[in-house]
Amino acid sequence: MLTDIQISRAAHLQRISAIAERLGLGDAAIEPYGHHKAKIDLRAAGLEGAEPRGRLILVTAINPTPAGEGKTTTSVGLADALNRIGHKTVLALREPSLGPCFGTKGGATGGGYAQVGPMEDINLHFTGDFHAITSAHNLLAAMIDNHVHWGNTLDIDVRRIVWRRVLDINDRALRSIVQSTGGVGNGFPRESGFDITVASEVMAILCLARDLDDLEERLGRIVIGYSRERQPVTASDLKAAGAMAVLLAQAIKPNLVQTLEGNPALLHGGPFANIAHGCNSVIATRAALALGDFVVTEAGFGADLGAEKFFDIKCRQAGLRPAAAVLVATVRALKMNGGIAKADLAREDVEAVRRGSVNLVRHIENVRQFGVPVVVAINHFDSDSDAEIAVLQEVAEGQGCEAHLCRHWALGGAGAEGLAHAVARIASSDAAQFEPLYPDAMPLMAKIETVAKRIYRAQSVSATGAVASQLQRWEEAGFGHLPVCMAKTQYSFSADPALLGAPTDHVLPVREVRLSAGAGFVVAICGEIMTMPGLPRIPAAEGIHLDAKGEIEGLF
Ligand code: ADP
Ligand code: MG
Repeated sequence: MLTDIQISRAAHLQRISAIAERLGLGDAAIEPYGHHKAKIDLRAAGLEGAEPRGRLILVTAINPTPAGEGKTTTSVGLADALNRIGHKTVLALREPSLGPCFGTKGGATGGGYAQVGPMEDINLHFTGDFHAITSAHNLLAAMIDNHVHWGNTLDIDVRRIVWRRVLDINDRALRSIVQSTGGVGNGFPRESGFDITVASEVMAILCLARDLDDLEERLGRIVIGYSRERQPVTASDLKAAGAMAVLLAQAIKPNLVQTLEGNPALLHGGPFANIAHGCNSVIATRAALALGDFVVTEAGFGADLGAEKFFDIKCRQAGLRPAAAVLVATVRALKMNGGIAKADLAREDVEAVRRGSVNLVRHIENVRQFGVPVVVAINHFDSDSDAEIAVLQEVAEGQGCEAHLCRHWALGGAGAEGLAHAVARIASSDAAQFEPLYPDAMPLMAKIETVAKRIYRAQSVSATGAVASQLQRWEEAGFGHLPVCMAKTQYSFSADPALLGAPTDHVLPVREVRLSAGAGFVVAICGEIMTMPGLPRIPAAEGIHLDAKGEIEGLF
């Protein structure tokens, strides 16, 4: 079997203008970055404010193994398959971060014969969006310290500055730092730190903004910290929003690339799936919905986090109405949820699949709570046995849910046609009656409890007095209508990564809450959440290099 990068390099990519043309986008509507990438100029394309007309399909998953269960790969395979069976389909995905590329997980352009390309470009610097976001974020950080340095007329309490700096590299050394040391000319020393760029609120803002005006307004609403009087201080108080928007003016345009089968894909934005909502930009999703009959999109992590936030944050804010959800399940992940150790996942164990399938059942029930019909995609791995697959199929069907075995990783779109027929039929049937889980008007703590009880099946939420009074202060300051963004482990329905399967009666601990006033949500941090990952003992970076021809090796 060839590696992902070998498959990608062997594929013949079409010129990006040819892909654009198939979408009805002429030369004036695209800004090419080389031969195989382009930004779409929405105004020139006549897409600014265009009404969505396609049907939106969310790809989500059961609780995964650390390697990922193939949501991106299945999104690509499904989009290729839908195109193969004659439906004009556009993919809308996140852009990868350099953190996982050089760390553990690798890139995020799919795998096997279900990939978007050119994978080297997309996984590395792509069209510079992450650089722009990093710069806009750090400009605001610099303006905060500069304001304090020159007299601090806003009376910012330097102990209560919450705006840190960002970098798109996993670097644990920067998690917690003392800055501004070295003398009077360097400002007032204080503790701070770095997060990874995908954890920046600027990233979440770019991904939720409807257009440039909305972007600038949201940037202005960012709360950077509090004054000595405990009043929120915003980016707009610092007069930073205009310059930040200037830095993002190009980044806000969606990026057009293609699948290895030559189908259109918009890759745009990539917010963290824990302290942010984990899906590509609203702008790209809406553009895709104006261009295609079907749009396939992905939300990060399992459905307990990804789908819930996709529905309750993104769809709520952007007025999107998903038509169907595809729940990616693998035999491996079900075995893990059935108690099998990571090293033994390749060995046949039908009973472990059966035990672990409680996880699948709960995710099916959960997605249906939003009024969205579910189809299960069984992402086939070579190690799966027929008996294990049969159990998975039987469990899904026991829930009244179609389950389709998919071989897109090995075969490309041809391997996912069964899934595509089912998805097209269900998404076209108008069966979806989408409703977010809770209304805007519900108090913030009640929103957290609603997600905890209805999605995680927790018995209760435990929160310190400090968390409760913080939520109350934000409600008084006018932020009570915001949705909540849950940050917890992706491996369990609970906050304990070791509690697999379908736990009930656990207690969800809310350790801390953070306000993302520009993005428009309140983050509830449940358990240990890392916003600046570290590199593993043997980082992927050790295996990445240029060969004699100057081509990249080791990227996956
Ligand atoms: P997710 O989006 O759920 O995190 P990805 O689609 O990125 O997962 O897949 C994670 C990794 O697993 C990728 O390296 C991909 O190549 C690999 N992968 C996905 N599906 C399969 C499969 N059916 N067989 C083998 N490897 C796969
Ligand atoms: Mg993915």
